[in-house]
This record gives sequence, structure tokens and C-alpha cells, in this order.
Amino acid sequence: MSAPVYLDNAATTRPDPAVIAAMTACWGLEAGNPSSLHASGRMAREVVEIARAQVANLLHAVPGEIVFTASGTEADNLALRGALTRGGGPTGRLAVAAFEHPAVLETARALAAAGRAVDVIPVDADGIVQPATLAATLRPDTRLVSVMTANNVVGTLQPIAELCAVAHEKGALFHTDAVQAAGKIPLDVRELGVDLMSVSAHKLHGPQGVGALYVRDGLELAPIVHGGGQERGLRSATENIAGLAGFGVATDLAQEEMGRETARLVVLRERIVESLAASLPEAYLIGQRWQRLPGHLCFGFAGLEGDAIRLLLALDAAGIAVSAGSACSARHAGGPSHVLQAMGFDPIRARGSLRVTLGRFTTDEDVSYFLDALPAAVRRMRPVTSSSSRAGGN
Ligand code: PLP
Repeated sequence: MSAPVYLDNAATTRPDPAVIAAMTACWGLEAGNPSSLHASGRMAREVVEIARAQVANLLHAVPGEIVFTASGTEADNLALRGALTRGGGPTGRLAVAAFEHPAVLETARALAAAGRAVDVIPVDADGIVQPATLAATLRPDTRLVSVMTANNVVGTLQPIAELCAVAHEKGALFHTDAVQAAGKIPLDVRELGVDLMSVSAHKLHGPQGVGALYVRDGLELAPIVHGGGQERGLRSATENIAGLAGFGVATDLAQEEMGRETARLVVLRERIVESLAASLPEAYLIGQRWQRLPGHLCFGFAGLEGDAIRLLLALDAAGIAVSAGSACSARHAGGPSHVLQAMGFDPIRARGSLRVTLGRFTTDEDVSYFLDALPAAVRRMRPVTSSSSRAGGN
């Protein structure tokens, strides 16, 4: 069987061969525990610190501002819980955008259940958080704001520098979940002004189970994992040195290739949009047309709203991997997407999106194959399509 056409890069990306080589080399080293004082320990420590410098470089941070975690999810948990527990006092409020990833939303929900006041920042119909909307949501005692850099379902990019300025003006800290954006668009924590930023290795052709939180120099957080005091006491646990070696190489590669890859992916992305506009009039793009990640598309299909999972499975049978909404929502398959509902979709239309996300290994041929297979799959599901109307999601 030939390799599937993999168009689900927002769920996870294939590790780059250079990443696999770095990790394999690391496993072959006589490296010890990075906390040990002997030569093997020092060798392991060097691997960790090289990776820290590489990740810092991607974000234009300094290495001391990078805290390694076991995932993007853990970085989000540390950001929210850490910033509210330390310095947040019992009353400092949290404000999160309505379409955040569950790593943020569920943490906010747990904090609310424990008594923390949480405000939800509305999102507009294009999938953007407007600075004026944030300003209207903030209260004098808001301690922390969390708005993602790029949405994981629709791919829209948020005006992070402006949002951060609004939060700071009102005396709140600003966290951004940049898990989908890191390695795909330029990120400079100083230019953006953010206090906290979460990233994850497996979204940028690195390994799964490795993440990082940027913590602005001078900002004190409370730990969420207690133990031997690694990672400045913020995240105790013996470091995953092979994973970190892979993360470091992945960030270097992403940075080197970003300009070229962005140009290539935008061409492929626009080819999909234009081709489907001609061949599949019932398909509509969800989310702002241009303010989006280079390789990220999300479509609805007029008249097939409840059938996204069937469509996904039809494409799967044709050897194409896409997702219905986000990878996390696949576990709650069939339910309405909280992201689309936040953008004003009714619960029926919020069930029907197909996410198509391109990556470094996506080829022209992959896109051609998908562009042949999708209209055929839609027509098989609904043979009479000529009377269907075009229903815009934005
Ligand atoms: N935040 C966003 C926006 C994501 O897309 C994801 C993964 O899908 C996460 C956080 C969680 O990252 P991880 O899979 O590393 O826990």
C-alpha cells in the first residue's frame, strides 16, 4: 500500500530525518542524567542546554527564559496555574479566548471550579479576537490574559502584539499558546511583548511529548510539578534529552526553512482554495481568508454539515488523512466544535468542518490527489448538488 497523503499536520507532523538522526545519536551517547556532576551527566546537560539555546533562538528569547515541559498542554497548564498561583492572589481574574485549545480552556475550567474568576473573551465571525473586544472584557483585577497565536481548528492568526498591549495597559500579564504558530510564522517575544508563550515540538517536525514555556525574564511562576527541582524548580523531572535534542534540531530547521516553506505552502494552500471554489461550490472556507497560517485550511460543506466524520472516513478510505475539526475533538466525534460555535456557527453547522493542513512533506502531487478525491467523495455522499447554495462561514 502506498503511503497515505497526509494533510493533518496541525494534529502532528512527521519528524524530520535530521531530527530522527539527532535523537538516535543522542540515544547512542554514553550520556547520563543531566543533574549528575560526572562527565556523563555533564554531556547530557550540554545536550539540554544546546536545545534550550536553539528553542530560545526560534522565539528571540534568551535561553534562561525557556522552561522545558513534557508537552504543549503542560506548558499551557504551567502558564495559567503558575502565573495565577504566584502573584495572582486569591482574587486575580483570568481571561481566555472562547476558541482556545482545551489545554487552556479545561485548565481555566478547573481553575474556575476551584474558585478562580474566569472571563471568556469573544471571538468574531472571522475567527479573530479583536483588541477592542479584549479591552471590553478586562476587569481592573484581571491578572492574566490567554489568547492563542494561531487557532488550531481554523488556522486564523491573532493580533498578538495589539492584544498584549491592551492587556498590559490594564495591568494584566499576557500568555499566548503558540503551539500551532511556532516554526511556521516568525515569532519574536520581545516585539510581541508577551510574558508567557507555549510551544510544542511535534507540531514543527520534532518529537511528540516535548514542549516549552517561554517565561519572560523576571516573571515569577509557581511550579505545577514538584520534585527534584529541575527547570529552575518549575518543572521537576529528569529531562528527556533525546526528545530535547530533536526539538532543538527541529527549531533550527524550521527557522532555516521558514521563508521558503511559507512561500511554497501558501501556493499550495491557494491552489486548494481556488480549485475547490471551481469544482465544489458547496465548499466554503471558514475563518479569515488571508490572516491565517501558511498551510492551514478549514472548510464547511453546505448541506453536509452533520457529515464531516463520514467525509473524513471516505477520504481515509481513499488514502488521505485530514481531520474533522481538531485532533482532540476526534475523541468527541460528531459534537459541535466549540471553536466554530465561538465564531457564531449554530450547533448544526458547527459539526461540519474539515481541516486540511499542509506541512514540509506535502507535495504538489498530494494536493492534486486530494483535489480529485474530495469532490468525488462529496458527490458520492450527496449525488444531487446542483441546487446547493454557497453558505459562507465568515
Ligand atoms: N495548543 C494548541 C493550539 C494545540 O494545537 C495543541 C495540540 O493539538 C496543544 C496546545 C497541545 O500540545 P501537545 O499535543 O504538545 O500537548
